[in-house]
Amino acid sequence: MIEPRKEFARELKRWYQSNARDLPWRRTKDPYRIWISEVMLQQTTVAAVIPYYEKWLKVFPDVKSVARAPLQKVLKVWQGLGYYQRAKNIHKAAKIIVEKFQSQMPEQVNDLRGLPGFGPYTTGAVLSIAFDQRQPIIDANVRRVMMRQLAIEGTANPSVDVEVESCLQKIMPRKGNNIFNQALMELGALICKSKQPACLFCPVAKSCAAYEKGIQELIPQPKVNLLEKIEAAIAVIEQDGKFLIQKRPRQGLFADLWEFPGGKIEKGESAAQALFREVKEEVGVSLKSAQPMMNVEHFYTRFRVNLHVWRCQVQESPVLHSRLKFVFRNELKRYPMPSGSAKIVERLLQKFKKKRQKCN
Ligand code: SF4
Repeated sequence: MIEPRKEFARELKRWYQSNARDLPWRRTKDPYRIWISEVMLQQTTVAAVIPYYEKWLKVFPDVKSVARAPLQKVLKVWQGLGYYQRAKNIHKAAKIIVEKFQSQMPEQVNDLRGLPGFGPYTTGAVLSIAFDQRQPIIDANVRRVMMRQLAIEGTANPSVDVEVESCLQKIMPRKGNNIFNQALMELGALICKSKQPACLFCPVAKSCAAYEKGIQELIPQPKVNLLEKIEAAIAVIEQDGKFLIQKRPRQGLFADLWEFPGGKIEKGESAAQALFREVKEEVGVSLKSAQPMMNVEHFYTRFRVNLHVWRCQVQESPVLHSRLKFVFRNELKRYPMPSGSAKIVERLLQKFKKKRQKCN
């Protein structure tokens, strides 16, 4: 049973003030910066986000600079963070903020919710952290803390949010909600971790129903995480010192990012068979030769991909267009790519560097 509002919020705030990590986005009240940090932090750890956040703000210091930039540049700066739809939504929302709200972040729930990518979480985060409005934020950390406080059993999925939000509405302070929300998220990140929560150091342990029952480690119930394994054959096609890359379809996974031609190895197919088939299907030409070049493994959130990369020669030149082009080696890094393809580029560039060093 949660303690009366004032006491819970007071204990949490006191703990936060002496334990909060000094994170770059906590040094600002600028709603644009808070928005960017909150979008980046979805599905990504704090440690991974910091360098991306700092780089982003150097390139795009304000909402106008994002709105003005071409999408390809936005995707390139985002490259490596995954879930590229987030970057596309920032770009779209920035344009709307500039055109419709005179480059000022809206302060009304309905205005924010109308912007691309502004779900309840991002809206709550911007309104409460930047504008100190009394809005709840429910991220994975908050959901876990509150499930334990309320002893809600089962897996941590958004279906429990109704109960969690209803409780938050009762315990959020009237003022200082920015601190309250951040403190709750920080408590989940530092103390009420998914494994082995440090209840002895928890500032709100006395209101925690799960702790009282001794079931805190059973809440939430772990999800079964079956990581799909994907094997793919990739063609590095070089012609006159340039490499063939293609832009992925406008919809679906990694939409609008660039990659080398290739694709999934189907059941019963060898990597080489898949390579020849994929190049024919995607690029419209036949391969003359193919030699294994490297293997690249990359883990995405829901799958693990093993890329079998081949150095290839084509029988005839493909018909080039805006989504299929040859680019020089030193231009490859300018194109936004999924992390697996970006790894291939890195390894390719390293190989050439070593080769050049040997020759010198
Ligand atoms: S007492 Fe333990 S389980 Fe409950 S909120 Fe605190 S850290 Fe989490």
